Amino acid sequence: MVIGHRSKCIYQQIIRMLQFSEEGDAERQIVVKFVMQVDNYLKRGGENVYLPDFEYYTPDSIAEACQLLSQFGASAKVIAGGTDLVNKMKKELLAPEVLVSIKNLDQLKKIEYVPGRGVVIGARVTHNELVKSEVLNEKYSSVSNAAQQMAHNQVRNAGTVGGNICNAVPSADLPPIFIAFNATVKLTGVNGERTLALEDLFTGPGKTVMTQDELITEVVIPDQKMTGSNYIKFGLRKSGALAVVGVAVAVQVENNVIKDARVALGAVAATPVRAKKTEDFLKGKEVSDELLAEAGFIATGECKPISDIRASAEYRTDLVRVFTKRALRKAIDEGHV
Ligand SMILES: Cc1cc2nc3c(=O)[nH]c(=O)nc-3n(C[C@H](O)[C@H](O)[C@H](O)COP(=O)(O)OP(=O)(O)OC[C@H]3O[C@@H](n4cnc5c(N)ncnc54)[C@H](O)[C@@H]3O)c2cc1C
Repeated sequence: MVIGHRSKCIYQQIIRMLQFSEEGDAERQIVVKFVMQVDNYLKRGGENVYLPDFEYYTPDSIAEACQLLSQFGASAKVIAGGTDLVNKMKKELLAPEVLVSIKNLDQLKKIEYVPGRGVVIGARVTHNELVKSEVLNEKYSSVSNAAQQMAHNQVRNAGTVGGNICNAVPSADLPPIFIAFNATVKLTGVNGERTLALEDLFTGPGKTVMTQDELITEVVIPDQKMTGSNYIKFGLRKSGALAVVGVAVAVQVENNVIKDARVALGAVAATPVRAKKTEDFLKGKEVSDELLAEAGFIATGECKPISDIRASAEYRTDLVRVFTKRALRKAIDEGHV
């Protein structure tokens, strides 16, 4: 079914038709003015309010969705919440000929604890569902806190876990906290399922190891012994801002000694970064301010930030130093696993 439509010259035809029509009433003038504004807007190269043509499918099973993705190949895209994809289509950065909606796949909507597996989060779960999830608030509240720091309410209501991950945007908020919890992703395609560590999914900005026919179906946070965790995001506004830097940590502390630590950094490299040298440095050591400060310094050596419109590379590096120390301190003192 074709539901998108755009034809820039249609506005000029409408204007001409109205201007040269016999009838000359005030209503017609208002319509002419409105259509001319739209026409001028498009001529200015402004954001297109119309989407290009596409075919739209709403499969009822994961298998059918994968089959469609395989059949249409590179001309097809999955659409979940659409918060990112539709914007890119409006800006003409992407023009998929086929959209495969996963809105009927209710099995991707769950958040549940499965003994022996961990917390299973379906790809269609929205950010606000992460925020409100009883399971997550009880077991991994830092995931809910990270989701709460994302975008604003409208986007959190529509944007999904799968979309946030598949975008593979270095500044995305969910990957660092999931990576700090050693999360895995399940990918399902026409040839079956495979599971991989989330940190191994990303290969560059906007790039993953996923094949054209694959969907992310779930994220799994395995059972673990971590005693505390934290995610700190620095954005240029309090809400609706992308991360300039995001630091996620998870620690296992016993008798003031760090038994285990995981540190993941967002927005400071082409992909989310697991700061393994920092983790190794922390393990087995007694907690002190000096130790955490040193961990912050080590983390700066594990990122490769760029300078862009939101911050310089130097500023981002210094934020990594400060936030790594701060997130570790919060995780150790406040818990919040
Ligand atoms: C105003 C605004 C503010 C934002 N703020 C933030 C923010 O603070 N932090 C942040 O991290 N992001 C932010 N975003 C980005 C975006 O909203 C999120 O990344 C969101 O999670 C995308 O999810 P979605 O379901 O809308 O994805 P969609 O737009 O539907 O899809 C995004 C991409 O993922 C693919 N995809 C989606 N689901 C699947 C799946 N299950 N399997 C395979 N491929 C899939 C699509 O094909 C597409 O390429 C913001 C966006 C906007 C518009």
